[in-house]
Amino acid sequence: MGQTMRAAFAVAYGKPLEIREVPIPVPGAGELLIKLETCGVCHSDLDVRKGSTAPPESTFPLILGHEGVGIVVARGPGCSLIAEGARVGLPWMHDTCGHCRVCLTGHESFCAEHRGHSVDVNGGFAEYAIVKEAYTAIIPEAISSAEAAPLLCAGVTAYGGLMKAGLGPGKTVAIFGIGGLGQYGIQIARAMGATVVAVDANPAKLEIARRMGADHAFLAGEDAGGQIRDMGGADASINFAPSPRVWNDIVTATNRLGRIVSVAQVPEPVSLNLEWLIGTGIQVTGSSVGTRQELRDLLDLGAAIGLSIDIERIPLSKADEALDRLERGEVDGRQVIDFSLD
Ligand SMILES: [Zn+2]
Ligand SMILES: [Zn+2]
Repeated sequence: MGQTMRAAFAVAYGKPLEIREVPIPVPGAGELLIKLETCGVCHSDLDVRKGSTAPPESTFPLILGHEGVGIVVARGPGCSLIAEGARVGLPWMHDTCGHCRVCLTGHESFCAEHRGHSVDVNGGFAEYAIVKEAYTAIIPEAISSAEAAPLLCAGVTAYGGLMKAGLGPGKTVAIFGIGGLGQYGIQIARAMGATVVAVDANPAKLEIARRMGADHAFLAGEDAGGQIRDMGGADASINFAPSPRVWNDIVTATNRLGRIVSVAQVPEPVSLNLEWLIGTGIQVTGSSVGTRQELRDLLDLGAAIGLSIDIERIPLSKADEALDRLERGEVDGRQVIDFSLD
């Protein structure tokens, strides 16, 4: 192992990422040093570069990336759970406080003190990175490092949302937005035995949705909500579309006593009629990423049935260009940095 590594840093809002050669970090107590094999490129990385949902610029320069997969090459003092040589994930969640009511009741991804890789702490757009032993997860052998990477944020975020939807055989779920999260959502909902309805504004995405196993697919903006209602409505609606425009379709589509789970970042407000809420008994909730246990359950599910979206491998040197392509909407599945490529 050399002394330095290459990493892609956010240096200022709106500025391109810079590839820098910096010292390899040293793991502290409870920390593992991993040598990255892959790291997915998430829309939240783009948000940090833009400064839209971002950490204070004082945390810059900051290494982006929170969908990393790597091999443990060194362990800090006190590590006892994971051996050197294990293949583990660098997930979105770096750590949480571990002692508040939210953490102790099994909802740690809502912890007010949580710290995220690529937002508060250096992430995985680097040849080496630090993860907390207690917050990482071992990647099952059946899942390749490229397939595993997007599970660490996109996959577990979809899984966390679906776990709040009360699904099962005989239930119908409407999935709004068929980007990477929605594509995982379709596959996970199918595995839960639900009937899946996909909605997107892009006809090509509806084709992908059918290929991923959606039973029905409707174009947003063409009364998708009414069409779902006509076929019996949805017991749950999950929103993965980063737009307030789908809200009316969600309200129309969702059955009485159903659930609406909001996952996508939508900064604009939507209108909520309290009489509608009283009259329908619908539960509206939000979902943020997923817990450590949900990540492990998702990885087990992926190993058992195979969960995959379209993956495009890129070298680390193209990390900034990858964010540009995301911003222009040119990516249907996931771009994954493959550290063997440059
Ligand atoms: Zn992410
Ligand atoms: Zn907490």
